[in-house]
Amino acid sequence: MPDELLQRLRRFHDHAFPRYEAQFRELVDDGQHPTTLFIGCSDSRLVPYLLTGAGPGELFMVRNVGALVPPCCGTLDGGHHGTAAAIEFAVLNLKVRRIVVCGHSHCGAMKALYEDVPSEAKNLRVWLDLARDAALPVQPTPEALRRTEQRAVVLQLERLMEYPMVRSRVERGELTLHGWHYVIEDGEVHVFDVKAGGFVPASRSSHSGTGPFLDTTTDAAAFSEVDTTHWGRVDAEPCTE
Ligand SMILES: [Zn+2]
Repeated sequence: MPDELLQRLRRFHDHAFPRYEAQFRELVDDGQHPTTLFIGCSDSRLVPYLLTGAGPGELFMVRNVGALVPPCCGTLDGGHHGTAAAIEFAVLNLKVRRIVVCGHSHCGAMKALYEDVPSEAKNLRVWLDLARDAALPVQPTPEALRRTEQRAVVLQLERLMEYPMVRSRVERGELTLHGWHYVIEDGEVHVFDVKAGGFVPASRSSHSGTGPFLDTTTDAAAFSEVDTTHWGRVDAEPCTE
């Protein structure tokens, strides 16, 4: 039986790589300088490079089940907190200017919030706790799942603001947060718009998404008019540990 993966590796080296060789050489010589940290769900149908048109060196990416953000502190129990480490590295070392949290339609992780997770999947059970507050006390209809997926994105953005290095840069205007919900079947990203109080299709949006708050230094008045209580903890405080 032919080894399909091996064939793909050879095809990349022989046919695709030559087109990008100069670009990759430059990225090796000068190092990487991605401006965006992309936190996306692991789902195979979410293809960040297709959505954004990004090429080599543009996205610093971390993907996990559900596109979830763990707490910055209080969990340093000897575990291996890969997503938190990626956030710290992207912000402190790479000095990214944007963080995108991208969930999507038909997300298995969000559906799992309404189901029994097998006891054998003990890591998954704990991991999903990071989205638990997004679940609604209703039957998981398609509409409820859609809302859960979107609420989970905002919840993660709020948790990002608990990272002191994130919050301080957002407040100084050096970093922006973007909440995205990708609808697979439509090929459209819906971006979180705090002024609208929800997600709007990118085709009708004037921006590429906001955090669950407005810049309090420039738009405090508008912020006070938005009822975001249903999104969760918009008053997240930075951790001081
Ligand atoms: Zn997913």
